[in-house]
Amino acid sequence: MKLFQLLLDLLFPPKCIFCGHILEQSGLLLCPDCQRNLPWLTGSSAEGKVEFVSLCVSPLRYKEPVDESIRRFKFFGRSWYAKVYGVLTAQCVQDHLSGKYDLISWVPVSRKRKRKRGYDQAFLLAQETAVHLGATLVPTLEKVRHNTAQSSLEDDAARRANVIGAYRVLEPEQIAGKRVLLVDDVVTTGQTLSECARTLRTAGAREVLCVTLAKAR
Ligand SMILES: [Zn+2]
Repeated sequence: MKLFQLLLDLLFPPKCIFCGHILEQSGLLLCPDCQRNLPWLTGSSAEGKVEFVSLCVSPLRYKEPVDESIRRFKFFGRSWYAKVYGVLTAQCVQDHLSGKYDLISWVPVSRKRKRKRGYDQAFLLAQETAVHLGATLVPTLEKVRHNTAQSSLEDDAARRANVIGAYRVLEPEQIAGKRVLLVDDVVTTGQTLSECARTLRTAGAREVLCVTLAKAR
């Protein structure tokens, strides 16, 4: 098995998922350059406000080279990036939301989009995040309406209208009185997270918190 891994590393040397440089040392998450220079958010800059959400935290700013990396993750099949991203989001949760949630869930994509893409990127990210936090991932929401991608809409009102009623709670008894931590890849205007939080709280969740890999605003 070790030999096999060695051979794999030789044939396909692990690369930094942000800049593409080959990782010289095995076991490194990122290359030293990215470790130093990525647009990290620390302290209160990592924390944001979203309607119906108590606190939304993100370890990174959505700008170069993070945006390109996330685009490859979402649209160009790099599903394994979740392994690295999950370590970053879990660390961010530990730094900002430790002890503040009861269960971890995610913002699901529609069935149609999942079929087209082959995977639900927020689910993969949430799964890795939960593993690193020693928690079990709980499915709480389902996307019941396939809508236009939020990224293609300009203003807040259009984004808000686009997501209203798009989600449904799977099992209300599962979240009743609970503090739910929702995982998603990027927060831009927060309309998607806000609608998910509103849906969860209407169904009985006590509180909703969020972690996203990156924050656009
Ligand atoms: Zn790098």
